Amino acid sequence: MSDLQDLSGRVALITGASRGIGRAIALRLAESGADIGINYISDVEAADSLQAEIETLGRRAIVLQADTSVEGAVEGMFARLEAELGPAQILVNNAGIDPVTPIAEMDAAEWKRVIDVNLTGPFLCTKRAVQRMAAGGAIINITSIHDSTPRIGSSHYSASKAGVVMLTKTAALELGPRNIRVNAIAPGAIETDINRERIVAFGAEAWKRWIPLGRVGQANEIAELAAFLASDAASYITGAVIYADGGFRLPLVRHQGWPPNEA
Ligand code: NAP
Repeated sequence: MSDLQDLSGRVALITGASRGIGRAIALRLAESGADIGINYISDVEAADSLQAEIETLGRRAIVLQADTSVEGAVEGMFARLEAELGPAQILVNNAGIDPVTPIAEMDAAEWKRVIDVNLTGPFLCTKRAVQRMAAGGAIINITSIHDSTPRIGSSHYSASKAGVVMLTKTAALELGPRNIRVNAIAPGAIETDINRERIVAFGAEAWKRWIPLGRVGQANEIAELAAFLASDAASYITGAVIYADGGFRLPLVRHQGWPPNEA
């Protein structure tokens, strides 16, 4: 690890860190030296086991239960983080939900819940975190390839993630003068609890055909990018949205008879 990637002495808060991509990011930032605030909403056992794992790396970690879409809960989470570990220099807005329902069948409550968790949560956490980022910092928002590529059944999810892109870019503009960098990572298909059933149902052969790199991704492949963006190695990068999707989103013109081996 180069000195620029060293996060020793920094505090990172990762929302939705109990499982999946958030968990991998929390572990990776701890490996780079950061102390970690582990946010979760319901799976306390998973959050506790991550805390133990981070402590074996010699880092400090605390577990912070909060629904990140609720302003009072976000305030309580940051107050505890600051009292026990100190203010965050790194915030990863990762918590998210991804129900799949066509528009005609979706009720307004489902629409609102997805927007609240996936878009309002990052706004609330960003607003609160920057109050205490006196000497600069790094914010990383986890969007999705569906921030720009629609998927049937994901109108709310795609709208929320497209919103996170503009939250990222606006925050980068507003916070640049304070040396707070704000970037987004847009993962493709990464195997976690959020989509494991869907990924397995399609089968490895289908993913091989659909994704230029020939496979779904793993959470640690997103965590590597997050560790880079959180660190001084990315000191001149802000307002960027980086797609980590194995090329899944690359356009491919399909018509009968081409590619030659496809029906
Ligand atoms: P996951 O395995 O289902 O984990 C979701 C995490 O978010 C859990 O830690 C969960 O906590 C937490 N969470 C959910 N709602 C919350 C809330 N209101 N407040 C606080 N925490 C909450 O999902 P994942 O696949 O790691 O997804 C993480 C992020 O990556 C999401 O924003 C997702 O949209 C994005 N993403 C994922 C993929 C993919 O293919 N997996 C692709 C593109 C983007 P509990 O454990 O307590 O339930």
